[in-house]
Amino acid sequence: MRFTVAIDGPAAAGKGTVSKAVAAHFNLAHLDTGLLYRAVGNRVLQGEDPVEAARALRAEDLEVDGLRTPAVAQAASKVAVIGEVREALVDFQRAFARRAGGAVLDGRDIGTVICPEAEVKLFVTASAECRAERRFKELAENGHDVRYDEVLADVRARDARDSERTAAPLKPAEDAARIDTSDLTIDQAVASAIAAVDAART
Ligand code: C5P
Repeated sequence: MRFTVAIDGPAAAGKGTVSKAVAAHFNLAHLDTGLLYRAVGNRVLQGEDPVEAARALRAEDLEVDGLRTPAVAQAASKVAVIGEVREALVDFQRAFARRAGGAVLDGRDIGTVICPEAEVKLFVTASAECRAERRFKELAENGHDVRYDEVLADVRARDARDSERTAAPLKPAEDAARIDTSDLTIDQAVASAIAAVDAART
């Protein structure tokens, strides 16, 4: 069975949580494509050339510690504006999307560029304040010394860079179902994503 669920949206909108829950519910493989850009960003912080780092990326690079830090997130969004970096990551993502058994991919350009033919496309979003609040709590709980206003500035900077770039900017596919999680609990957001997938499967 080839079945692709494409889930896009800005940072900290709940995409990751929704994607993992949808994958578990329907027994699909899951790829967090942000990790690919974070792994490239991380190698760039260590002095590598972004395009070479993207071309040489290996599965082990996705497992290294420290990919979830704000510094790596910013580095990821900087390398993500480079067309050749994005091109180097396309084949891996498309192969994953069409694997037997079906797959959920989450990112920024899955429904628009990587898998425009995906059977289900969701755009998961929330207000910048709400996303910053969630990211702030998550970082603080994981022992990072951060301030809310810095996290909000970070979220806004990444939103601007992701939406304004010319290579595969962040935007909903025309046929994507939109889920605004600002006023939803995790369970409600997951339930609405599962309902959208169910509707496409019948
Ligand atoms: O989703 P996550 O916050 O881990 O993504 C890190 C960065 O990688 C994003 O800010 C974005 O610039 C980039 N990205 C992208 N396309 C994707 C996934 C992530 O440009 N499909």
